[in-house]
Amino acid sequence: MTRNEIRTRLRHFEALCREQGLPLTVQRRDILQTVLERNDHPTADQLYESLQDRIPGLSRTTVYRVLSMLVEMAVIRRLHHPGTTARFDGKIHRHHHLICRRCDKVIDVHDTTLDEVPQPDVRTEGFEIDDFSVHFTGICAECRNKA
Ligand SMILES: [Zn+2]
Ligand SMILES: [Zn+2]
Repeated sequence: MTRNEIRTRLRHFEALCREQGLPLTVQRRDILQTVLERNDHPTADQLYESLQDRIPGLSRTTVYRVLSMLVEMAVIRRLHHPGTTARFDGKIHRHHHLICRRCDKVIDVHDTTLDEVPQPDVRTEGFEIDDFSVHFTGICAECRNKA
């Protein structure tokens, strides 16, 4: 994400906090900023580790709690893939992912043809689809080179 994009997103978050009467703490702002700065879809623990020095006294619990709050506010996304820990994504527009089965790396894929995947008819399930993204599993370049 570019510096400008990050600035815009942070400003949007500030406005959202004001609107919802939530105090904009340094911790919340810094955690969001770190997610936006990273393109590697970090886990909560990875975020905690990279923020430890920046925010003195930060606890793991706080990181988890703030991340959940940010997901709830739809300013970031949580990615779930079977068998892996939850990862966080600062990109909230529709995009897709490549997931390495060996190292769990998650790479963004932007492809408008994937944005038009036909939706299955799930009326009999009583299910209402509100979002989707496609993920492809495989082996990343780095892991393939190691093999
Ligand atoms: Zn890999
Ligand atoms: Zn992504």
